[in-house]
Amino acid sequence: MLKVKISILFIVIATISCAVKKDKGSLNNNYALVIHGGAGNIVKKNFTQAKENEYRTTLNEALSKGIEKLKQGESAVKVVELVIKQLENSPLFNAGKGSVYSNNGKQMMDASIMDGKDLSCGSVAGVTNIKNPISAARVVKDETPHVFLYGEECQDFCVKYGIELEDASYFKTSRSWKQYQRALKKDNLLLDHDQGSINEYNESKKYGTVGCVVLDKQGNIAAGTSTGGLTNKKHGRIGDSPVIGAGTYADNASCAVSCTGVGEFFIRGTVARDISAQMEFGKKKLDEAGKLSMEKLEKLGGKGGFIAIDKNGNYTMMYNTKGMYRGYANSKGEITVSLF
Ligand code: ASP
Repeated sequence: MLKVKISILFIVIATISCAVKKDKGSLNNNYALVIHGGAGNIVKKNFTQAKENEYRTTLNEALSKGIEKLKQGESAVKVVELVIKQLENSPLFNAGKGSVYSNNGKQMMDASIMDGKDLSCGSVAGVTNIKNPISAARVVKDETPHVFLYGEECQDFCVKYGIELEDASYFKTSRSWKQYQRALKKDNLLLDHDQGSINEYNESKKYGTVGCVVLDKQGNIAAGTSTGGLTNKKHGRIGDSPVIGAGTYADNASCAVSCTGVGEFFIRGTVARDISAQMEFGKKKLDEAGKLSMEKLEKLGGKGGFIAIDKNGNYTMMYNTKGMYRGYANSKGEITVSLF
């Protein structure tokens, strides 16, 4: 009987510890970046080799471009913008081109960026024609006394600072359009690439938001996140990605974080700031802080993941879904991309 109990206990412990997966490390060098392209049911059997290669190549190119700029001495916050721009321009992800559709048949995008050096930050939400929402977020950060701008008026403002607009047709991909059509038929709320609804979450879901965290040569860190949100989301719904402290946070004194998953849970758990606060007030190391915040997210019922880096180059890429598009690159020339 005792043996049976011990085995059951072992199985329970094993199941719990398997639920959260992570890659972590100490880069121990003077500059580095980490990226994500969303989390979810990303399993090898769902990919053709060609599709897998396409994701790997796109993530690799974004990392290479970022590390090259860091080598030249570019600031963390500029590299965040540059790398996310590149991912927004790819139709593979739910950000910029390829964003999912809201229930009004429009692609409404959200983004945010934060500089850990001085806690300056900027966000945009509900933009429909901005080619690179992350650049609009940077304009809000640098050119206004505000943190958060919304909708059409925000677009008109950003154009004055050289932000490019595109017609609705530019953002459309057959993937996101089909998802929207499926969701309309079922009157459902879908997550990027997926078949189910937010109310009946299961492991078939995955999220295609993009994010980047960077440590530069000067020792500063920064973070950014960009998304089209959730398919068939209510017109006007704003997720965690543009909410500073929920989907994005950066502070040189702790860490830089970018999240992905069902935004409502990340807002309730203020996940990005939570990780940072565990370090600031709880004196936790980055990995331990991430683990505690992941536990909190799980208690809320949230699924997804996050990437984070601190000023010493420690990084973590943590998720409680089957996979997360992710990668890192550093000044030693190491570059890694993982999906599963
Ligand atoms: N976090 C995003 C949102 O809720 C979705 C995602 O990460 O894919 O808007």
